[in-house]
Amino acid sequence: MRDIVMILLILILIALLCIYLHISLSWHSIDIISLDAEEFIRKELDPAFDTERFRIYINKLLKRIDFLDENSVIFFTPFYDRKKTQSSLNAHTGLPGQKVIIFTPGWAARLYRESFAEKSDGAIIDLFAFVLGHEMTHKEQRRPIFLFGRKRTCVGWLREISSDFGGIRKSGLSAKRVKFCLEKEILDIEGRRQRRYGAKTMLRPHPTWEYRMKCWKAKRMTKELVEQICRDCGITDRRFLEKMKRIYVEKPGAPMKKAG
Ligand SMILES: [Zn+2]
Repeated sequence: MRDIVMILLILILIALLCIYLHISLSWHSIDIISLDAEEFIRKELDPAFDTERFRIYINKLLKRIDFLDENSVIFFTPFYDRKKTQSSLNAHTGLPGQKVIIFTPGWAARLYRESFAEKSDGAIIDLFAFVLGHEMTHKEQRRPIFLFGRKRTCVGWLREISSDFGGIRKSGLSAKRVKFCLEKEILDIEGRRQRRYGAKTMLRPHPTWEYRMKCWKAKRMTKELVEQICRDCGITDRRFLEKMKRIYVEKPGAPMKKAG
């Protein structure tokens, strides 16, 4: 019986490894934008979408952003995302260990439109830099694996808000500017759903945009802010709270530490 369980476990591990390798290879074979994303944009968002023009524009834009390290940016909808969010402005860090940052087709269409703008306040470009910085900060963090319930939510919220500070710092923008760009490009357009994104229950891994923007007033992950976030997630375990403070509190002016 024991042998059968061991064999089954090994088979499951091999299957997971194959899936990971398959996804990894397919993501790395995407040159900026996937065929599916192009088709989606032409069908739903912009029938005149010109892939070559988009590539040239986005490569120029990425050259200006100097914190990407060896990561590459690709535009497509990952398998775990729902179809209806394809036209929204969303981004993901992908699977652990992969040096890609994924943006939705909605982002490609919006940036493409910007490439024609004669006069622009640059809000979408600044927002793109912030989101890229936010996702890059996630890549520097460890992901919680063995945490459940409120503690998992709490770590999710701490990760999101510390990555927001990372995004603000990496992009070199002020929190006020990011807030303006976010309001203009996402919240005013996508409305209440995005504004309240993640808020329906306490057990969602993302705090609402409203909550996040309020936290930005602290300018960094202060002791008080970490305590407040833990309280808002209903954490009563003191040892857990102290651990969160050790991981997430940043000293003033200190570089971002690799939060867990
Ligand atoms: Zn995030």
